[in-house]
Amino acid sequence: MNRFTKITASIGPKCDNRETLTKMIQAGVNICRLNFSHDTGDVQGQKIDLIRDISHELHTPVAIMIDLQGPKHRIGNFATDEKYHLRAGQKFTFDSDPTPGDETRVYLPDSDVINSLNVGDRILLNDGKIEMRVDAAFPDKIVAVVAHDADIWSRRGFNLPDTEIATSVLTDKDRADLEYAITKQPDWVAISFVQRPEDVAEVRDFITARTSHPIKIIAKIERPNAVDRITDIAAAADGIMIARGDLAVEVPFEQVPAISRRIIRECRKLNRPVIVATQMLGSMVDNDFPTRAEISDVANTAYLRADSAMTSEETTIGMHPVDVINTMNKILSYADSDAIANPYDWSRVENVPENDWSRSVASMAYLNRAAAIVVFARDADIATQIACRKPDIPILAVCSEYVVANHLCLLRGVFPVCDTQLFAQRDAFNAARQFGINIGRLVIVDEDKISLRTIG
Ligand code: PEP
Repeated sequence: MNRFTKITASIGPKCDNRETLTKMIQAGVNICRLNFSHDTGDVQGQKIDLIRDISHELHTPVAIMIDLQGPKHRIGNFATDEKYHLRAGQKFTFDSDPTPGDETRVYLPDSDVINSLNVGDRILLNDGKIEMRVDAAFPDKIVAVVAHDADIWSRRGFNLPDTEIATSVLTDKDRADLEYAITKQPDWVAISFVQRPEDVAEVRDFITARTSHPIKIIAKIERPNAVDRITDIAAAADGIMIARGDLAVEVPFEQVPAISRRIIRECRKLNRPVIVATQMLGSMVDNDFPTRAEISDVANTAYLRADSAMTSEETTIGMHPVDVINTMNKILSYADSDAIANPYDWSRVENVPENDWSRSVASMAYLNRAAAIVVFARDADIATQIACRKPDIPILAVCSEYVVANHLCLLRGVFPVCDTQLFAQRDAFNAARQFGINIGRLVIVDEDKISLRTIG
């Protein structure tokens, strides 16, 4: 119960077997992220079934988050598998001709991109390693100038940090993936390359037209125009992911920490859970020990009172996925305890939405030095309202349905359990004992009743 910050683990080939997943969940994974950029359909479906099965076997709620690839743009193929050398100052054309490319031009499959680019816009290929600027824009082609010498080859991804792209946030692939994923009732759907609040509304409409199951939406913030509209996007979504991988390509990388802090503050004000993602323990893809910088990065996620830190390649393709979770758990637990011991900073006292009863619950727990706040949760709402006060006191959420417990998995400081008997008994003492709390005061919230009781 030392760790308040949740762990989101990306699941991939190095950890998607029963033994490793079981160890990772026992080590502290709260949310499993399945990235549909890689596997799709039944391959992901089988992983979802496996995670649900282990979660029920261990009586440990684990949320499933599916992550849609989104409109990640790629150039077409070149005539050979070789790398083609580009020289600083030369012109390079992106066009709508599917003929294989050479050192002067390449096919750009997405006509929306050609139509959206304006003179002066930057085109960053291959994670920003190739930089060009649009020199001339035509209906069927874009001519750009290369900024510095670089190699280019087939199917490179590219980012357009200066361009508002007039395209749906859901590609045809995303629609097919989401259609399938909905049948597996994930708890969260993460949308990539969100640009505006309307993108979130589009995905919500897509989901609600197909199911009444409560699937919540995470907007991934990785574009400068999404950063500019963070308040409206966070209000439209149910949660936010700071996708630092693409973000650090699209904005000058030195701005990423400041932007991350700003996003965390906005989420705090709007009561939206926020995940900090990418390269948190990246060196552990190969090593069994993190770098000093990574230790600080993970700890800062806890000090900023974000809801979750996320693993990426270090668990999907890394050599030590279980060690990664143990390491993250250790760092977050220590930082959370330290942050709780030194509570007077903005991350706790920042204004949150007006709501008198949740303020009363948090104050009552704080002033009475309660060991825990026990919530009997018919839905995720009550625990969510209290959690946004960041009371620095564990919120034990006794739920009768996994779907409620799973949604609460992402919230900092909320410890959900799914137990129909415990829920029916309304026995807060028994619930507290199950979480290892033997003595202390409890603030109990049961529907509209709030009480203070002493245990032990
Ligand atoms: C990111 O860019 O940081 C990210 C999480 O997105 P993805 O892994 O889908 O590229």
